[in-house]
Amino acid sequence: MLEVCDASPYLVRASKFFGESTETPCPICRREPVWQVHYIYGDELRASAGQARPKAELALLAMDYRSFDVYVVEVCRGCSWNHLVEKFTLGRDGLSDDSDGVRRTAD
Ligand SMILES: [Zn+2]
Repeated sequence: MLEVCDASPYLVRASKFFGESTETPCPICRREPVWQVHYIYGDELRASAGQARPKAELALLAMDYRSFDVYVVEVCRGCSWNHLVEKFTLGRDGLSDDSDGVRRTAD
């Protein structure tokens, strides 16, 4: 289901724009640390679904949307190795039990 795993060239490029550096060495080539790329998915996102986003932007998106999924993929720029690290759900629905859509103020 996760198509990004078949898109190595795109992933490597996305890591340069949106990636977060890590200190984890690539398990395949061991030449450089892997980068984490965050992808967002969800019906609410419409045109933005399936796009890579900087990690810092996720908190803002979580205030704008009720619910969306985030896929964290690790990518090696050296050999293009990549794999899905984790998937989690963000959004206002996860912040409170209120169903009236009241936004909480971010710090
Ligand atoms: Zn590598």
